[in-house]
Amino acid sequence: MADGREDIPCMIARCKCGCRGIMLAIAGELSAADRARIGEVACKGYHVEKMTVGVAREEPWGCRNRSLANPTIAKEPVDGTGGRDG
Ligand SMILES: [Zn+2]
Repeated sequence: MADGREDIPCMIARCKCGCRGIMLAIAGELSAADRARIGEVACKGYHVEKMTVGVAREEPWGCRNRSLANPTIAKEPVDGTGGRDG
């Protein structure tokens, strides 16, 4: 992990609240479980992108709105039916 490679492919999912924070990142070769996870978050409305580890490292992580400690947003369900807001 410390070989300094920044060109490893990485799948990321951005927060759907619009803050652009990365909520999920999977680097390297994707396992079947990884693909399922990505498909799952994409279905839930997260914006999935492919980038490199080097780029992902520069991106903001986590939900900026959640960092405001707003319990309403923080309690957003991960499972369940979810919304279709875009
Ligand atoms: Zn957010």
